[in-house]
Amino acid sequence: MSRNVDVVVIGGGQAGLAAGYHLRRLGLDFVVLDAQATPGGAWQHTWDSLHLFSPAAHSSLPGRIMPPQAAETYPGAAHVVDYLTDYEQRYDIPVLRPVQVEAVHRDGAHLRVESAAGSWSARTVISATGTWWRPFVPAIPGRTEFKGRQLHTVDYRRPADLAGKRVIVVGGGNSGAQIAADLAHDTDVTWVTRRPARFLADDIDGRALFDHATARRRALDEGRTDTGGVASLGDIVAVPPVREARDAGLLKAEPMFTRLTATGAEWADGTRARADAIVWCTGFRPALSHLAPLGLRGSRGRIPTAGTQALREPRLHLLGYGDWTGPASATLIGVGRPAREAARTAVTVARQDAAGEE
Ligand code: FAD
Repeated sequence: MSRNVDVVVIGGGQAGLAAGYHLRRLGLDFVVLDAQATPGGAWQHTWDSLHLFSPAAHSSLPGRIMPPQAAETYPGAAHVVDYLTDYEQRYDIPVLRPVQVEAVHRDGAHLRVESAAGSWSARTVISATGTWWRPFVPAIPGRTEFKGRQLHTVDYRRPADLAGKRVIVVGGGNSGAQIAADLAHDTDVTWVTRRPARFLADDIDGRALFDHATARRRALDEGRTDTGGVASLGDIVAVPPVREARDAGLLKAEPMFTRLTATGAEWADGTRARADAIVWCTGFRPALSHLAPLGLRGSRGRIPTAGTQALREPRLHLLGYGDWTGPASATLIGVGRPAREAARTAVTVARQDAAGEE
């Protein structure tokens, strides 16, 4: 037996909560299903020293400003978990945990959401499952020959776990730079990037990135020339630990190696380096396997959308996965707007259906 609701939100991280906030305000009957045992989504699992790249006030969900963290301009991940925990309670968002959604099926006029804890039938489904749960590692020759440890960003916690080791950190984004900086004092670290590392100017943090994304959205909405994504500004926010390591000469990017061997890495010119561990900071893919029965997959593991709405299944919204589901939607401050749009569409659908049933 399925329980009937207007909306099922899959995922109870920041994106799912932002959707919940708007659904609550619009008076819809909804449930949020979250695979984690406790609130906070991916922020519960990041490395210990991770700090946001924007100050607290610029990392807020709709309705409630994130309080500052004492003595920190850029709050740490644990502070974000506290904020999300409080947010969920404050707005009385109905999150069921731990509930892992296995599949979403078409079922007449509804979508049926299935999990080991039961199934729900909904007029609208908002998928907000993030990317943390699908780490991506590129296909590199020799990867299975390497006898040392291989970790992804999602596995890395603290320098003590690799103390004294020869570590190669792969990736020219924020995770690669931050983890290489984190390891710089305790390990013999080599940081490799596919193209030369591009640091944003020291006075640019997530605020400027958000402003840029907002300006881009306006330009696109008004039919003006695309100003380009935030990637046009650079790849790495020079947060204080990254800046310090870089200025101390501890953070110099080397070119990417071409293959792994049993004992380390090898570059195109024949140079070799021994390594005890490789940390792959090579990104993520959207966690969308629960949507496979709908047969909507496009390229790069994405589902084609207009805004948040799936083009070939308008009852489905995708929220928080990246710019392709709304500019800056994969950030705390950026997810509020697309969440509101998805919730407004859901309320229109619910009212139309209710009118049709009268
Ligand atoms: P998540 O936090 O991953 O939440 C998704 C939830 O859905 C999880 O609880 C998960 O368990 C659940 N779920 C997944 N699959 C299912 C399923 N099948 N059924 C039920 N539940 C499911 N953003 C900023 O604004 N500022 C920053 O400084 C910043 N720094 C970042 C640093 C790193 C290293 C990373 C990776 C990201 C950073 N981000 C930052 C981006 C973004 O804010 C985070 O990735 C954030 O966690 C995304 O939130 P989310 O709700 O979309 O996904």
